[in-house]
Amino acid sequence: MRAEYAEGDTPGDPRAPVRRWHMVRGAEEPRALCGVLLDPAAVTQPADAWGTAAARPFCTRCGARYLREVP
Ligand SMILES: [Zn+2]
Repeated sequence: MRAEYAEGDTPGDPRAPVRRWHMVRGAEEPRALCGVLLDPAAVTQPADAWGTAAARPFCTRCGARYLREVP
């Protein structure tokens, strides 16, 4: 998962509030499942955190696509 930030916030700043979490296919992949291009410097979380409080708010479009891909 990779974070999306509000406009004007610095991805490298750990105090910057996360606007939304997106699912990406790998730690180096900046493009989310929903098609949004995320900052390569944005904070990431392991896919295991999906569905937990740590992943909120989560992108609903990524969530729908991810559910279809998980066996
Ligand atoms: Zn998304």
